[in-house]
Amino acid sequence: MIYHVLGKTGLRVSALGFGASPLGNEFGPVDAAEGVRAVHCAIEQGINYFDVAPYYGRGLAETRLGEALAGHRQEVILATKAGRYDKEWPEGFDYSAKRIVRSVEESLRRLRTDCIDVYQVHDIEFAHREQILGETLPAMFRLKEQGKVRFVGITGYPLQLLRAIAEAANVDTILSYCRYDLLDTSLDEVLTPFARARGIGLINASPLHMRLLTDKGAPEWHPAPKRVVAAAQEAARYCRERGVDIADLALQFALQHSYVGTTLVGMSKVEHVQRNLSAVGKPPDPELLAAVRRILAPAANIAWQEGLPENYDPYAVPKGL
Ligand code: NAD
Repeated sequence: MIYHVLGKTGLRVSALGFGASPLGNEFGPVDAAEGVRAVHCAIEQGINYFDVAPYYGRGLAETRLGEALAGHRQEVILATKAGRYDKEWPEGFDYSAKRIVRSVEESLRRLRTDCIDVYQVHDIEFAHREQILGETLPAMFRLKEQGKVRFVGITGYPLQLLRAIAEAANVDTILSYCRYDLLDTSLDEVLTPFARARGIGLINASPLHMRLLTDKGAPEWHPAPKRVVAAAQEAARYCRERGVDIADLALQFALQHSYVGTTLVGMSKVEHVQRNLSAVGKPPDPELLAAVRRILAPAANIAWQEGLPENYDPYAVPKGL
């Protein structure tokens, strides 16, 4: 395994991180026992960063991860989130200080631990920025002072909002998803130079573009515009015809990033853990990469509208169009 320092947190994190949203059945029902085996296999092979949230399976992913980590807590860096609890806005969201304080206790119980290593505001684009800055983050910083969490971060999709919040508040980490992979590299235009200059830990999630860059393809809820889905299907076919799984290429590409501390892939099967581990330290074939990026070029860097309209990236397009 390759390890990187996650910005000013000083945490030494595995280049490949374990995304636990599939453990909450977010991509379809999973075999719970296989999920536990996947977590154990990951730890044995040197993966030490685990990311989860109360939202994933409405507590199920945290519960399953907590079970799997029993006896292994000291070997891993555990990241979870607060603020988002369900899909629909506004019922599924609560960024109030009161809810954050309750949320951490719920997460600690489900995860069977007494401290969260990285505690993050989940999907900041669903809140007004005044609340994130004036209420949510201050509540998290108090939890840090109390020792219930070690580091505080933000997560979300619109890059400009992530940057604006990180400019205004002293966060330790930023998690961005679907913004540095074969389809979208705009992370490097908006966030990477800023995060690097400030020493903020940068976490890149969903390098498979939430399953778009796999042979199985996107789940039906996927928000990407139709032309992006079509281009990804064409690229997957191109790879398949050459005996390559596009997921391997996608992960090899994302793992080459020069500043990201850990790249989070959603996993619930031993087979995927082993497959994804084989991408660590293996650069993509330059010719294949160039050909695939040519196929994806017409669909590159197309972001969708996510969260409250006031928080959209200015160039984002409506979901699923
Ligand atoms: P992803 O791009 O990692 O894709 C995950 C899907 O791909 C799952 O269905 C998984 O079973 C499948 N998969 C994994 N390895 C594969 C392989 N080798 N071949 C074929 N299929 C494979 O998307 P994700 O799970 O959404 O993102 C990774 C993690 O990042 C999440 O689990 C979560 O922990 C985190 N995340 C956080 C946020 C946020 O905080 N806002 C948003 C997105 C993701």
